[in-house]
Amino acid sequence: MLLDVDNIFMNFGGIAALKGISFSVPEGQVVSVIGPNGAGKTTLFNIVTGFQKPTAGQVRFAGSVVTGLLPHRIAKHGLIRTFQKTEVFPALTVMECVRIGLLNNFQPSLFSVLTGKAEVAAFVKNSVLEVADILEMVGLHSKSEYLAQELSYGEQRLLEIAVGLAARPRLLLLDEPSSGLNAEESSRFSTLVRRLQKQKITIVLVEHNMNVVMGVSDQIVVVHHGEKIAEGTPEAVSQNRDVIKAYLGRE
Ligand code: ATP
Repeated sequence: MLLDVDNIFMNFGGIAALKGISFSVPEGQVVSVIGPNGAGKTTLFNIVTGFQKPTAGQVRFAGSVVTGLLPHRIAKHGLIRTFQKTEVFPALTVMECVRIGLLNNFQPSLFSVLTGKAEVAAFVKNSVLEVADILEMVGLHSKSEYLAQELSYGEQRLLEIAVGLAARPRLLLLDEPSSGLNAEESSRFSTLVRRLQKQKITIVLVEHNMNVVMGVSDQIVVVHHGEKIAEGTPEAVSQNRDVIKAYLGRE
């Protein structure tokens, strides 16, 4: 397994937001975490990516325990995330934003520190092709010179994914990537996820749009009131009585 989330508990004062959640993500799969508002999905993402420390439990990534590491350390392991609220650099061009993602892969050697900027320059030069490939993949190649703030909301969401891809994820966690997208943009997003899957990038999605979830997921984990109530293929989960009850309030 690439990611193992093991018996995670999270208390905020008297609120038990997560009550012993466990699930695993195999390499190369798309796994969606779904659940009604307030179920604990974003808290789970925050714990996996080091933004919050769990009250108890362990997160293992590619064989290493990452629980409690700082977010940038976890990112260096190849565990990369996006946020529910879009986070781009408004005054930078699309290409510049993607280059910032690439910095996650830059490990200056002692030699570089001693001898100046040559290694940095080589890194930036070599990155040009990679940036072009990434922008092509997310469909923003024609906008590479635009400022991020000039993009539509849907395009900014794609740019956020492009920045994540530039960090060379082994696992990409996307927090409600299709929220605020119209039907056409959501369908473009689903196509992108399938394309990334073909590139062997493992993806975990928190998502409310069921068309997207059902269309792209290999596995679905359903969270309700901080507990996992079901997991399985889209077909199995959509017929699960506990899931129907949690979502529709009836059996
Ligand atoms: P949504 O789908 O609306 O984004 P979610 O499933 O992501 O919801 P969380 O945001 O993880 O849910 O919240 C889970 C529970 O934990 C909620 O009851 C929320 O109010 C509570 N919670 C989250 N963060 C905090 C915090 N920092 N302090 C106190 N309570 C919190």
